[in-house]
Amino acid sequence: MDRYTLTQSRRLAHRTRSTLPGGTHYNFRSDERSSSIPFKTGDGSRLWDHDGNEHLDLFCKFGALILGHGHPHYKSRLNEQIDRLTAVNQTGIESAVCEKIVEHVPSAEMVRFGLSGTEMVQNTIRLARAYTGRNRILRFKGHYHGNADNVMGGRSKQSGKPVALEFEGDPMGTEGRADGILKDQSLLIPWNDPETFTETMHHFGDEIAIVLMEPGCLNGGGILPDEGYLQHVREGCTRHGIVLAFDEVITGFRTGLGGAQSNFGVVPDLTILGKALAGGGLPVSALAGQRDLMELYAEKSVVHAGTFNGYALGLAAVQATMEILEEDPDCYKRMGDALTQITDVLTRAAEDVGLPMSVQGFPQAQVFHVRSEPLSSIDDYDTATNYADSIVRKACAEYGIQICPTSRLYANAALDESDVAFFEDRIYDALQDAVAIL
Ligand code: PMP
Repeated sequence: MDRYTLTQSRRLAHRTRSTLPGGTHYNFRSDERSSSIPFKTGDGSRLWDHDGNEHLDLFCKFGALILGHGHPHYKSRLNEQIDRLTAVNQTGIESAVCEKIVEHVPSAEMVRFGLSGTEMVQNTIRLARAYTGRNRILRFKGHYHGNADNVMGGRSKQSGKPVALEFEGDPMGTEGRADGILKDQSLLIPWNDPETFTETMHHFGDEIAIVLMEPGCLNGGGILPDEGYLQHVREGCTRHGIVLAFDEVITGFRTGLGGAQSNFGVVPDLTILGKALAGGGLPVSALAGQRDLMELYAEKSVVHAGTFNGYALGLAAVQATMEILEEDPDCYKRMGDALTQITDVLTRAAEDVGLPMSVQGFPQAQVFHVRSEPLSSIDDYDTATNYADSIVRKACAEYGIQICPTSRLYANAALDESDVAFFEDRIYDALQDAVAIL
């Protein structure tokens, strides 16, 4: 099939650039985003651009769009809320929504709401510091926790001294960061490396307030925890009096209503939710955690604030999302199966055109890489793979397949056999174009 004609879409994208810096609201991978396509409408798992072309949405708003576009129940619950109330401080649905999160997420005894993952991570860090009276954050290479100065990027050079330092060329680096904020606050170690974790506990255990991780590292390439690793970290945190926080901004509501902690059977002290929590149409984040930590808000010893926290439309969206996912418990298996069929087609097509290809991650959130073996560490993600991945993503976009940066493929509840066929119709041509460039 032919590449899409994108005349109107490109014209619109170009016009945007004169008043919107870079023509995008988002900086990472801005080279790719500058060629991104503006869309006009969406339905289920499909999108239509301004030239009338149809696209398969495996991007799903960075994984947030768990229900697909325009789910009827979701829409009607939001409309009901709009008809009732727009902006007041409380609507009465707080308790129903909090109770449902407590029911599903193992670590949740109490819940607070916010708007973005970035902001909720910062609140989590504050709570852990208040609770422990310590300052340091322990992070893991390749994990992403929002675009705040103290948790973004960095490198630790000396083994046994995992102090995060800024370095030139860091894809997660930025100018304008507060001086020393990484070095003073943040420790950074390899993930899935129990020895380094133990060693770090030994040297820094009594300085660390919080161990912060994605329980399955999707931002760092789709690397799942090795058998026993999460348990090892859990035990280390308990032994050293450190708060363990799972950043489930991607995995929460996506790998199941209980998130990755349910999949892996390891319970953190605090959990950050975002993205899919409100179905993908509206921004809502949450901090869900153990009562003794969360009560620090009630005692007013720790501040958490925000004008729109718990806003009516957002909570209605969370409630509608949970209703839909609860009423259809098989949908997680369906999403995983459909996405696995798609990635099987991808692997077969790559083999046919002579491109190495590996796929890893969760069934409902998979990540591809143009290399023969899955990544076992972010350090395996070399420049050549990074470049080849980006060429495949760009080629896919020209044939109507939308893929998230860092090659993440997200399922949504509307994904079915017709999407697998749509993908299969296009992927061979897209990969052939990619091979011609590579
Ligand atoms: N944590 C994780 C694991 C994420 O993937 C993201 C966003 N990609 C964030 C935090 C930040 O969330 P937000 O973009 O809503 O600020």
